[in-house]
Amino acid sequence: MSRSPRHLRPFGSLEAVRRAVISCERCPRLRGHCRRIAAIKKREFRDWTYWGRPVPGFGDPLARLLVVGLAPAAHGGNRTGRVFTGDSSGDWLYEALYRFGFASRPTSISRDDGLRLTDCYVAAAARCAPPDNKPTTRELESCRPYLEAEIRLLRRARVVVALGRVAHESYLKAAGLWDGPRPFRRPRFAHGALSRLPDGNALLCSFHPSRRNTNTGLLTRVMWHDVFRNARRLVDAAPERPRRSRAVEMGLE
Ligand code: SF4
Repeated sequence: MSRSPRHLRPFGSLEAVRRAVISCERCPRLRGHCRRIAAIKKREFRDWTYWGRPVPGFGDPLARLLVVGLAPAAHGGNRTGRVFTGDSSGDWLYEALYRFGFASRPTSISRDDGLRLTDCYVAAAARCAPPDNKPTTRELESCRPYLEAEIRLLRRARVVVALGRVAHESYLKAAGLWDGPRPFRRPRFAHGALSRLPDGNALLCSFHPSRRNTNTGLLTRVMWHDVFRNARRLVDAAPERPRRSRAVEMGLE
């Protein structure tokens, strides 16, 4: 019997998703871009060996908070191999996660800096750094099975923070909530907006902490902290789902 293509087979664990992401070659434009960036480098990072591959999600398999961003930065995640690491967006994100008790330290510098996330998992709509930070619709669709799998495997997740409009749309599509179920009305994107999803989970929106948004004041530190303060409150108030075996919770079964 012929087997379905690898990317269409269900993933059995977060580790399987991670391995598949790292070796993915489905978007030639993005793969070429990431390799070129990794070869040319930026002057200030010339001593680094760039990761140059797709960047997997990162965090606690038992997370109740899922953060979804857009894509790795060319000289951030594409350099370090950890999502949201090594750029100003990452500085904003991990500072807030630390402040509200989800991270062991306020900065994320490299894959081996000792950072641990507790009750939080960070993923992205696209796993390869796109030119001009703009993945195409087709590239986002190609990458969506990874987010779908993570949503399914993060069985304890109760709160989602979507960073930016693209992440918001990608999460709703990956969760099967873009076109239904009826009479559920698709949540609109607005900074600070909180929606209750049909499965009882909470969806919080934030502007993406890109340099353009933070430098122009569209997103201030106060606005940003309010989102994660709200996420902390929602996580702490969320009822526990029925317990499963630890192996299942860890995404190992
Ligand atoms: S963006 Fe996603 S689907 Fe495309 S090559 Fe990278 S990991 Fe694969």
